[in-house]
Amino acid sequence: MEDFGKALETVEKWIVEYWENNDHYPVLAKVKPGDISGVLPRKPPFHPEPFDAVMSDFQNVILPGVTHWNHPKFYAYFSITGSPPGILGEMLSAALNINGMLWKTCPASTELEEVVLDWLRQMIGIQAPLFGIIMDTASIGTFCAIAAARESLDLRIREEGMAGRADLPRLRVYCSEHAHSSDDKATIALGFGLQGLRKISVDAQFRMRPDALDEAIREDIENGWRPVCVVATVGTTSTTSIDPVPEILEVCRKHKVWLHVDAAYAGSAAVLPEKQWILKGCENADSFLLNPHKWLFTPFDCTAFYTRHPEILQRAFSLVPEYLRTSEDISHDFMNYGLQLGRRFRALKLWMVIRLYGIEGLQEALRRHIELAQEFAGWIRESPDFELMAPHPFSTICFRAKPEGVSENRLNSLNEDLMNSVNQTGEMYISHTKLHGKITLRLAIGNMKTRRPHVARAWELLRNHLAPLTFRGVRVEPGN
Ligand code: PLP
Repeated sequence: MEDFGKALETVEKWIVEYWENNDHYPVLAKVKPGDISGVLPRKPPFHPEPFDAVMSDFQNVILPGVTHWNHPKFYAYFSITGSPPGILGEMLSAALNINGMLWKTCPASTELEEVVLDWLRQMIGIQAPLFGIIMDTASIGTFCAIAAARESLDLRIREEGMAGRADLPRLRVYCSEHAHSSDDKATIALGFGLQGLRKISVDAQFRMRPDALDEAIREDIENGWRPVCVVATVGTTSTTSIDPVPEILEVCRKHKVWLHVDAAYAGSAAVLPEKQWILKGCENADSFLLNPHKWLFTPFDCTAFYTRHPEILQRAFSLVPEYLRTSEDISHDFMNYGLQLGRRFRALKLWMVIRLYGIEGLQEALRRHIELAQEFAGWIRESPDFELMAPHPFSTICFRAKPEGVSENRLNSLNEDLMNSVNQTGEMYISHTKLHGKITLRLAIGNMKTRRPHVARAWELLRNHLAPLTFRGVRVEPGN
């Protein structure tokens, strides 16, 4: 390309302007399927094109099809932040373009990853040193944890596989009914099948019941199953409920089953001393993870995975072909702890986030998010037209509209219409879940730039858009 420096200046300027003013964009892309691909050329260019033409298409064709996750009024799923320090880390990582598969192929990448994950461990109040590694996503982290749990049973699956083996019992993993679907995917991919995942019932606060877990494992053993792993969740996807890890740990110890804790969203909250209780028991779990890309202001993707048994994880995945053999200690070769060979320099962005905000800056943002969410919950509680649907220990609120006089069987469609109606404004974006068969709206606060006026506006929009959907308690069907 002709002038890298000039192009970089343009991109830099664009990024700064975007960070400062992205709340002017509609949060949810207002396009139909095919709108973007339909205007892109079907054939790649043979001759190089000028940078200005590409940048112009980025602005005019690509941007209209972007849903702005980095927007202060993005409240859907789990709200996230690609913060300025994280963006700088990503830019440097792209420029270096290293591959940290072996210590030797980029010593700084491996060693920074070790140090930064040890910082993060201290920040979330885990006392004892642990082996830590950055993975791309929580889904992959959980997959690796279950693979390690399976390897720990010495069933010779690494050598002989699972198919057609009369000597192999059926294997089972356990998680709550509210655990993330990545647990289901991991059991599919690891060959246990969906029947190899048993969902444990939850209590009134959507937390896994340790007594039900104990009973399920006992019953399974009696029926010839071999329990492999329990996945507890700290901060479930729908309601952010917190499974009782210490009690679950006791059940796991009793039955000698690997405990993996998925704290993908909520783990970051433990950077606050007053929230560190949520990870109680994790230091003795066999593995656990949290996603700095969810609620620690680090650009996607970045999952911090910890285990007390790196040697078992290594046994599950290590395979060193001749061309990757070195004279160094392979325990620092991170390709040996997961499926992927090549590894990006993800530690750089996390390092920059921690250094440029400091623990203090991160705590300020986390506390602000929790306070804003609690204030929003207070507005819901006081309103005659809305109700809270679950406890809200973090920055995610589950609620629904329930105007007086609207019957229960019409509330699901009313809430779906309300969600679609506010999302269509482009001013905010919320998502939903279902609790006890009831459509429940979720407002998740997690963007670094979200302030009180943004949340107040979300509340105003919800109330304003509810009014035309109901009239004197009678549900008005769309189009009437
Ligand atoms: N675990 C929990 C509790 C989640 O909420 C999510 C996603 O929201 C995941 C795992 C999957 O995260 P990832 O996209 O990092 O795989």
